[in-house]
Amino acid sequence: MIIIMLGAPGTGKGTVASILSQELEIPQVSTGDIFRKNIKEKTELGIIADKYISKGNLVPDEITIDIVKNRLNDDDVKNGIILDGFPRTVAQAEALDKILEEKGKKVDIVLNLETPEDEIIERIVNRRVCSNQDCKAVYNLILNPPKVEGICDKCGSKLIQRQDDNVETVKLRFENYIKQTSPLVEYYKNNGVLQTETVSKSINKLGKDVAEEVVEILKRK
Ligand code: ADP
Ligand code: ZN
Repeated sequence: MIIIMLGAPGTGKGTVASILSQELEIPQVSTGDIFRKNIKEKTELGIIADKYISKGNLVPDEITIDIVKNRLNDDDVKNGIILDGFPRTVAQAEALDKILEEKGKKVDIVLNLETPEDEIIERIVNRRVCSNQDCKAVYNLILNPPKVEGICDKCGSKLIQRQDDNVETVKLRFENYIKQTSPLVEYYKNNGVLQTETVSKSINKLGKDVAEEVVEILKRK
């Protein structure tokens, strides 16, 4: 099963993807995580990606498509993958369709998460992530705080704030989402695989609620 997580920054893609990954036993692959790991390790890819990410811009398509193309050849994703943060442009979506077609596969479901913009900003500036690369748990100081301040509940490592999670960069990321990524909603609507879900505290629905709903839907299929 090929699942795609679509949505503006801070809508809860990572949270939903990680629950789906556990429940459905399919690996979650986040292009953002891949870039951050490379930035931390100062690899050649990391040095290039950082120039774009720190400014709130997308990493160029050629680079990003190549990474996903290679990752799709790995053994652990042969029965399914949850793509979290890819595709993010129409060119990436077209490339993905082509890669999958060559493997006799197709996108099964695109989960499009929507959240009011003011909530997005609030969520992102209050987001904290586990510094342990093998854990990567995500917290929110208001909606989902850790039990002990600054410490991950799951593994005890230090919590950190992502460098691009500041008000200025978030605004640029949101603008870029509207310009470059939001056309994918139409793209996948036309393919008949789009499922849109609202994630908002105003309707008492957070990422974990959406994930539970989707697991039920997929298990019934
Ligand atoms: P968020 O959804 O909160 O913005 P991500 O971890 O998905 O966080 O992405 C962080 C950053 O990594 C993005 O702002 C962008 O610069 C870069 N990035 C991630 N995925 C892609 C992609 N598919 N194409 C281009 N850039 C990407
Ligand atoms: Zn942790």
